[in-house]
Amino acid sequence: MIIGIPKEIKTLENRVSMTPGAVETLVRQGHSVLVEGGAGVGSGLADEEYRQAGATIVPTAAEAWGAEMVIKVKEPVAPEYGFLRKDLLLFTYLHLAAEEALTKAMLDSGVTGIAYETVKDRAGTLPLLTPMSEVAGRMATQVGAHHLEKSQGGRGMLLGGVPGVPPAQVVVIGGGVVGTNAARIAMGMGARVMVIDLSHQRLQYLDDIFDGRLVTMTSTEPNIRAAVQQADLLVGAVLVPGAKAPKLVTRDMLPTMKKGSVIVDVAVDQGGCVETIKATTHDAPTYVVDDVVHYGVANMPGAVPRTSTFALVNQTLPYALRIAKDGLGALRQDPGLALGLNTMEGTLTCPAVGDAFGMDC
Ligand code: NAD
Repeated sequence: MIIGIPKEIKTLENRVSMTPGAVETLVRQGHSVLVEGGAGVGSGLADEEYRQAGATIVPTAAEAWGAEMVIKVKEPVAPEYGFLRKDLLLFTYLHLAAEEALTKAMLDSGVTGIAYETVKDRAGTLPLLTPMSEVAGRMATQVGAHHLEKSQGGRGMLLGGVPGVPPAQVVVIGGGVVGTNAARIAMGMGARVMVIDLSHQRLQYLDDIFDGRLVTMTSTEPNIRAAVQQADLLVGAVLVPGAKAPKLVTRDMLPTMKKGSVIVDVAVDQGGCVETIKATTHDAPTYVVDDVVHYGVANMPGAVPRTSTFALVNQTLPYALRIAKDGLGALRQDPGLALGLNTMEGTLTCPAVGDAFGMDC
């Protein structure tokens, strides 16, 4: 199959959909890979590395998009809509429920769209979303520690303390992929860590794997109210699949927090679990409410495109190889991959997207 890797053109997007190593694997399996010149630069990957891996470097986006299958990171943006066509297979994050204009462009063009975010594995989890949650979770503690510094508006506190001075208290609400990774880094930096979750099974798991080195707590309003008062760093990491995040840290809890404490609400992309959070950008990531620093960047992995690119490709490549080998036959062989199909021949094939726009699937 001929596979195209265009350069991402969404604002501040520096990831690329395939690394040179992944390209080499595709080429070894008999595929041709067209990489748009400069596609990997934002992730520190030079055209020459792709060339050595067996790719053909093409000078224009149109040439990369001319392939039989295009693998991308982000959903197509308006200048790319013209590249969509009936005999194209597009494999990327699509997030169509949030993008009516793109959904229309996909349907009008007849393109076959397989969305990373709706592919499921055998366990029923979302394997192509997990790597970005891992990145965001680990980053949450890193940015939280940074913003606890006085010059960043924080309390002027070292997360791990020093001998003779106690460490900071980190409270993580939601102990899934993001929360577990945030907790892991916080413990690694020497902080005291509490994880709050609704799922008892999840709390049992965390208690087990961290061997009692963190405190677990059931998610109730009184428990959250008490924990918020102790927090130097609060990480919001809840997810209710398909729904907006519940507001667990309410406006009235804010004045009870320590002055200069920091909130990193990773769930901001689903509306946030902190009532006072709003989406911010990497350019101006924080603002202050009631002396509490708020960080609400909705695309945290964008700050570390190199790590994020490799993490994403680790998960997407096995699927890309199967699609490249068998085309849509790969979807018939794997019902979890078939759930990734969002559009085909002008028809919407993902019920969640249909629900969002009141369309039939
Ligand atoms: P996940 O499904 O792995 O974990 C979510 C956890 O929240 C689960 O353990 C669940 O039991 C828990 N939960 C649900 N309701 C709760 C409640 N009322 N109280 C306490 N816990 C509750 O999800 P994830 O992959 O960890 O993602 C978490 C959030 O982070 C999502 O909103 C996701 O979209 C977001 N995210 C944001 C970025 C970013 O850049 N900002 C990046 C990746 C993920």
